[in-house]
Amino acid sequence: MKNSYLTKILEELVQIPSPSGFTSDVTSFIVAELQHWGYKPWQSRKGSCVVSLGGDGSPLVLNAHVDTLGAMVKSLKVTGRVEFTCIGRFTMFSVEGENCRVHTQTGETFTGTIQSTSPSVHVFDDAATKERRLKNMEIRLDEVVKSKEDLQSLGVEPGNFVSIDPRFMLTPSGFVKSRHLDDKAGVAVLLDLARRLREENLALERKVYLFFSIYEEVGHGASSGIPEDAEEVISVDMGAVGDTLETSEYVVSICAKDSGGPYDARVVRALVDTAKKHSIDYSVDIYPFYGSDAGASLRAGYDVRFGLIGPGVEASHAYERTHVYALSNTSDLLVHYASG
Ligand SMILES: [Zn+2]
Repeated sequence: MKNSYLTKILEELVQIPSPSGFTSDVTSFIVAELQHWGYKPWQSRKGSCVVSLGGDGSPLVLNAHVDTLGAMVKSLKVTGRVEFTCIGRFTMFSVEGENCRVHTQTGETFTGTIQSTSPSVHVFDDAATKERRLKNMEIRLDEVVKSKEDLQSLGVEPGNFVSIDPRFMLTPSGFVKSRHLDDKAGVAVLLDLARRLREENLALERKVYLFFSIYEEVGHGASSGIPEDAEEVISVDMGAVGDTLETSEYVVSICAKDSGGPYDARVVRALVDTAKKHSIDYSVDIYPFYGSDAGASLRAGYDVRFGLIGPGVEASHAYERTHVYALSNTSDLLVHYASG
């Protein structure tokens, strides 16, 4: 593939469990990766990761979120099964039959499967028809647990984070199938930018920061910790694909409007001009049910120009898919936008 660093770092990122609120392992990984390329990242009190890539003039913040969808143990059932609550917004159809991990307070991890409470067609006459809503779903742990007490003796308790297995796959045809491409794909692209500045000796036209937020899926990711001198914030998050949208799994999507309203027209225009000038495959789109970290920054009161771009991701918040073309188009757009 054209840019093997991108897919390699993306695979490493999706394998690190990081539902919102459980992100210290992935931020440590990012700090180490940035240090490896000779940068000096720091973390905010909240835990977001920030780094300056250098450059002078009109500070630009490129932001991606490291947190993902996930779940949390809600209660322990007398049957030894686990009731859970969702972290982020997803359908029960999209996680039914999926393997997961329960992370206890002592650092132990137990594997399990998310399934309906009528999982077998040989036993339950409502196996097909039972409504797939939270109260009809549970986690079956891969341990000999037959009671609430058995779960307790393992250290499983309400508040434990649950991560969903990514099932990462890179196909010979260049498709990347995995959960959590939202927004580990954006994180991978930003780390790739940090690498390319070093390896390709690119000069920045302006001051550029990378900002990795940790609570985007629950709405307040980039609401604090943005560098004080920021003049422009661009969120690099998944591009929505489907229905009448123009975005595909092969392009970098430039968002003109989402649920929060229009993006800054000056930023959208500048991104489109950059894509055209450098023959980057892009689309401009309107996402009907979507909010971004840029929106969180604005609602928090930051006085900045703002934009949103990202690789097209099919089946978002389910078993997602993109293509290496979308990743490299996003990387190229950012490189040219930042370095002129
Ligand atoms: Zn996202």
